[in-house]
Amino acid sequence: MSKTIKAAVIGHPISHSKSPLIHNYWIGKYGLDGSYEAIDIAPENLKAEVQNLIDQDYAGFNATIPHKEAMISLCENSAHNAQVIGAVNTVVIKDGKLNGMNTDGFGFINNIWDTCPDFDFQGKNAVVLGAGGAARAIVSALIGEEIGHIYLLNRTREKAEMIRNEMGFLSDLIKVRDWGDRNTVLGKADILINTTSLGMAGQAALDIDLSVLPKTALVNDIIYAPLYTDLLQQAKACGNPVIAGIGMLIHQARPAFKEWFGIMPDVTDELKELVLK
Ligand code: NAP
Repeated sequence: MSKTIKAAVIGHPISHSKSPLIHNYWIGKYGLDGSYEAIDIAPENLKAEVQNLIDQDYAGFNATIPHKEAMISLCENSAHNAQVIGAVNTVVIKDGKLNGMNTDGFGFINNIWDTCPDFDFQGKNAVVLGAGGAARAIVSALIGEEIGHIYLLNRTREKAEMIRNEMGFLSDLIKVRDWGDRNTVLGKADILINTTSLGMAGQAALDIDLSVLPKTALVNDIIYAPLYTDLLQQAKACGNPVIAGIGMLIHQARPAFKEWFGIMPDVTDELKELVLK
């Protein structure tokens, strides 16, 4: 008799998470005997509750705010990119041991390729706005794709400098600029990525002037609510190709699903619509 494969997302709070919807869509689509649920775990209970998941024979789980950084030290093994990023968002449990990965960079790159399959990052210039957790994953992924240079701008400049310094011998690839220079630096961009929370529903819009941005530059906002932020609407009006953040959210879930359930799932328009409802 085959046994149900169990997975989950842990966070605090967790009710807002779209992950159960995404994984249960795929479980249904591929006719698998599996389950995926959202589990609220307070930070002080993290270690004990994770041990419960191991004891209950879970295949693994996603970790979201506020557990992504703490999971690094709880994992026996962490993939190199998770160590560089300093955060684990996916855990695979094997032989009672926790193996950590970070799939945000995979989600980011594959979302770009979904829309622009021919875009080659090698030798290009990226302008990245923001230096939070998502920016860290994206910078690391861009470097993995042999980007030329990354112009990194953040309201709190020190956080951008910290990311640059953590890249060790690759730190020369990252050029930190002042947040106030965001309009002029765009002249250098082959791709512009907003990783700040500006433009998200309930937040102020990103205040930016795209006049000097080359018309061929891709513009990606990793925010997915709303689907098309002010930045993307402005870029579209300028004639630039635009890429919304919803695909990143779904693509980052794919390697986790593959690890637990054995199938690399597809990103379909039906799933995107479901997630946006
Ligand atoms: P985070 O670690 O909290 O970072 C937030 C970033 O936004 C920081 O760089 C912060 O700058 C900047 N910021 C916030 N308010 C600002 C303001 N008023 N002016 C200028 N900069 C401001 O968050 P995160 O985890 O990186 O997530 C960032 C956004 O990406 C969120 O909207 C999240 O929903 C989205 N996201 C999407 C995906 C996806 O799959 N599509 C994945 C991850 C995240 P300071 O450092 O100066 O505070």
